[in-house]
Amino acid sequence: MIQTPKQRLFRQHLFAFSLLLLLVGFFVYAMRLDQDFFFFLSTALFLSLVILILFHKRFKKKRATVKLQREELFEKVNLLRTEFEKENDVITAFRGEIVSYSQLKKLVENLSASLSVEETTHTLCREVTDLLGRQNTIVILYLLEAQTGELAIVYSSRQHRPVHIKQKRGDVFDRWVMKMLTPLLLEDARRDFRFDMDKIDGEEGRVIESLLSVPLIVGNKPLGILRLDNPEPRSFTHKDLRFLKTIADVSAVALENAQLYDKVEDLAIRDSLTGLYLRRYLMERMDEETKRHLRRDKEMSFVMIDLDHFKRYNDNFGHPAGDIVLKSIAALMQKHFSSPGNLLCRYGGEEFCVLLSECDKEEARDLARVFVEAVAAEKILLRREETRVTVSAGVASFPADAKTREDLIVKADKALYEAKHRGRNRVQCA
Ligand code: GH3
Ligand code: MG
Ligand code: MG
Repeated sequence: MIQTPKQRLFRQHLFAFSLLLLLVGFFVYAMRLDQDFFFFLSTALFLSLVILILFHKRFKKKRATVKLQREELFEKVNLLRTEFEKENDVITAFRGEIVSYSQLKKLVENLSASLSVEETTHTLCREVTDLLGRQNTIVILYLLEAQTGELAIVYSSRQHRPVHIKQKRGDVFDRWVMKMLTPLLLEDARRDFRFDMDKIDGEEGRVIESLLSVPLIVGNKPLGILRLDNPEPRSFTHKDLRFLKTIADVSAVALENAQLYDKVEDLAIRDSLTGLYLRRYLMERMDEETKRHLRRDKEMSFVMIDLDHFKRYNDNFGHPAGDIVLKSIAALMQKHFSSPGNLLCRYGGEEFCVLLSECDKEEARDLARVFVEAVAAEKILLRREETRVTVSAGVASFPADAKTREDLIVKADKALYEAKHRGRNRVQCA
């Protein structure tokens, strides 16, 4: 049973009082009977009592000192505990940093293994989804288009599944990031005074409650935006923002390298005047395409196009004017024939060709006719003068007209010759 200090004091007093009573009893008894012996005994008892009281006092003093020391020790333990907790926090944070650094190392390794822009953007977005993509987070990557200087969406996914985003050129948040060129963290979009959420809901048509967005910048040159958004508020923290900023800094350099790589690749396979593929590249691709179409039992068509009396045009207006015409024809070709799978090429000089994937001869002939008519209707402005050109086209199909790549080209070329022979500005089928 635990005693309170009051109870303990009462017991000590009772014990001292009993001893005193005993001493008085002895004393009285000694005075009456064996005085010498009892006097000696009572003196001894008295002395013992005095010693006991002295010991008790020392004990009390000692106990007070021990109590004080104990309190001091407790204080030290508390201080040490607080320090330990602090150290623990530092260690946990440090461990987190180590994890982040190893994640960054992996990201950098994967980015360096990606060469083209397509590969790099996919690697980047896949890694960002793994690192920061909580449930329902959408990862979006915009890159600035070289021609227009506008943002264009190149990747959007939720947990590695593609998602459809309405705003292909970015929304109000992206415009803000591009204008300020600083990272943006929205913990709770509805409470953020910078943006009018009613307008944004109408614009995008999906709920965005929190958002993390960083510009991709190399030197002073912005390349695009890497953004994460979520329909739940407070999905991202300042720590996530710092981490994404570091990722963006690393990836911007990788993206710029990839853009340069693509440019060099393009220079090797594209004609510098018209931007269309070069003949060498077309030949390589035609081999693949013939095999693919045979395997899948599909038809494809080849259209050879040649400018009519182009020598005369050059003679009349000069070679630079002729170059403008070639460019305009290439642009018209892009407009008429640029469907996925088709290959547009400058075959050489003023000759062009198109490989129409999974397209039969009738369809190819109709497409070529529309194109030939469009060229004839096109006004080509030279300073203030309006000029016009026409083209002739020959169409052949694989495998209906030819069984090999070479034969397909020969057949289309023959058809083109026939079109020229019949008066130009027309389409002739093999
Ligand atoms: P046809 O209707 O029979 O095809 O007559 P054409 O005059 O178009 O054919 P020809 O083969 O006699 O002349 C082709 C001309 O195309 C000659 C050349 O000066 C011109 N040409 C070829 N490449 C270029 C180029 O890159 N720029 C310019 N401006 N002209 C070019
Ligand atoms: Mg010609
Ligand atoms: Mg020619």
